[in-house]
Amino acid sequence: MNLTEGVEEREFDGRQRLATCGEAVYGEPVEDGWRAWDPHRSKVGAMIEKGMDLGLPDEPTVLYLGAASGTTVSHVADFSGPTYAVEFAPRPVRDLVGVAEDRRNLFPLLKDARKPETYAHVVERDVDAVIQDVATRGQADVALGNREFLADDGRLLAAVKARSEDVTRDPGDVFSDVLDRLSEGYEVLETERLEPYHEDHLAVVARPRI
Ligand code: SAM
Repeated sequence: MNLTEGVEEREFDGRQRLATCGEAVYGEPVEDGWRAWDPHRSKVGAMIEKGMDLGLPDEPTVLYLGAASGTTVSHVADFSGPTYAVEFAPRPVRDLVGVAEDRRNLFPLLKDARKPETYAHVVERDVDAVIQDVATRGQADVALGNREFLADDGRLLAAVKARSEDVTRDPGDVFSDVLDRLSEGYEVLETERLEPYHEDHLAVVARPRI
């Protein structure tokens, strides 16, 4: 496993599990301030479990797209610096605001990730990571549209859901098309299917093409 600073393997009920240090969010077990990070509920957790090299510096600055109610972004904020969390559905954002109350570095934004110009005045430039889990059609375009925020040596960490692009097509074909489109703005460094944690998802680590 390729652990990032602030992410540890800790023992919970006699079992080694990924963990970050922070307030509990989704009923996960907590021991000595460390909360278990469930890779079945988190694509970034699954990427770490699968040994992918996320290429993050210590305390990275993060733009997170598709934050939902904060399950994963809460863990990310536990080990990161400023963490901007974009989500366009009002209901999960209500929960996300609650999660941010315990994390002064987490900034929820009720915004559409396809319209980066609507949050460009709030999100700082040169973030170390754009983390994307939007599960919507046009996932490569969302990543390309948010590339402007990323530092030249930053990382895109994207979970691509095949069924969100086209339920009828073979996932492998969908991933190949998404990677082709992504390569217009990014150099893909590593890809990994996320089974058994997430069906028909491809995790991508990439850096901006300059
Ligand atoms: N990343 C979350 C986690 O691990 O806790 C789960 C994210 S869920 C798979 C996908 C989320 O992306 C949904 O909450 C959905 O509302 C959001 N989403 C989809 N399209 C979006 C867009 N264009 N802008 C912002 N959020 C979007």
